[in-house]
Amino acid sequence: MDLFEHEARELFSSHGVPVPRGRVATSPEEARAAAVVIGGTVVVKAQVKTGGRGKAGGVKLAATPDDAEQVADDILGMDIKGHTVHKVLVTEASEIAEEYYVSYLLDRAERTFLAMASVAGGMEIEEVAATRPEALAKVPVDALTGVDRAKAVEIVAAAQFPAEVADDIADALVRLWEVFVGEDTTLVEVNPLARTKNGRVIALDGKVTLDANAEFRHADHAAFADPNAGDPLEREAAEQGLNYVKLDGDIGVIGNGAGLVMSTLDVVAAAAAEMGARGPANFLDIGGGASAGIMSAGLGVILGDPDVRSVFVNVFGGITACDAVADGIVQALGILGDRATKPLVVRLDGNNVAEGRRILAEAGHPLVTVVETMDDAAREAAKLATVTASAEA
Ligand code: GDP
Ligand code: MN
Repeated sequence: MDLFEHEARELFSSHGVPVPRGRVATSPEEARAAAVVIGGTVVVKAQVKTGGRGKAGGVKLAATPDDAEQVADDILGMDIKGHTVHKVLVTEASEIAEEYYVSYLLDRAERTFLAMASVAGGMEIEEVAATRPEALAKVPVDALTGVDRAKAVEIVAAAQFPAEVADDIADALVRLWEVFVGEDTTLVEVNPLARTKNGRVIALDGKVTLDANAEFRHADHAAFADPNAGDPLEREAAEQGLNYVKLDGDIGVIGNGAGLVMSTLDVVAAAAAEMGARGPANFLDIGGGASAGIMSAGLGVILGDPDVRSVFVNVFGGITACDAVADGIVQALGILGDRATKPLVVRLDGNNVAEGRRILAEAGHPLVTVVETMDDAAREAAKLATVTASAEA
């Protein structure tokens, strides 16, 4: 989960990384009050989980509380790359001498952690990486030894930070590593890490991604939960305890067992390419005990996806045999009633398959087609998706 800047800086601060004083405001009046408490010139910053806020006009200096109120009024409600601004962070303004970049991340391709650092901070780091790759130092970090003082000094040297800030940056790097490991994150990024005109090194922006797998170790992170985040279908599915991931195709996929569903996605993608459909619309694993309740919850989520034009239900009967799954499908369609509107292709195999197919045949639901093999079923689902698409057009 990505954090807001104001949450990231809370974590920075609790690990001793210097950040400017600041307060969160959700209205122009609150922003004014924050500016009064902070005193002097402040920066009003849109809190949205995307970068490039400065360029988009979401970061503004305000010399007086009146200005802060006015600027907050401009920024609140703004749309930045599809994110609506619901709150702003008001901080004391720093006089910036130089802007640097530092980050730690999980480098999955190299199976290691990676430190990145540059004296060319402030601007978008992707641009630095693309146009002046030599200006972005990349230093692998061993998971067992992490970033101690010596490693921090190595990173500082690799990025060629000026001598007068070397110590302070090394300090910040050690503390940021404590954030990275101590909070179980997969990304900690500071851009800019600024040198101020009075010689301080201070984190003026922060991006942190928490590792959801370590949630159970951090009860205090629950406060960061963002009810507005993520895909609405994924939220609905998560609330129902379903293993669902939205994808960008038009063929809904339901299966039992993650391995089966993953290979179903491959087969559906191939069939879609062949038939001119777009591909799988989602991953959904309803697990071993595919009861009617879970089946209808799963079908409900998939049919609620406006991109879905056909659904492929691919079930291998094991402990839960095919007849129970078939019963589940029939009951689920009963529960969904008029909400079931897209054609369903069902492929059953495994334990009690004959009885399962008999149950579906007997029910004779007009939306359901039973196909024997996975490849043929995927092709049928892809064909139905293109038919539905041309009917919609
Ligand atoms: P981003 O555009 O989303 O990365 O937002 P940042 O928090 O990084 O802010 C964008 C830019 O605003 C920074 O690179 C700075 O140049 C500027 N900025 C941020 N805080 C201050 C500040 O305290 N004083 C001054 N003068 N500029 C600031
Ligand atoms: Mn930034």
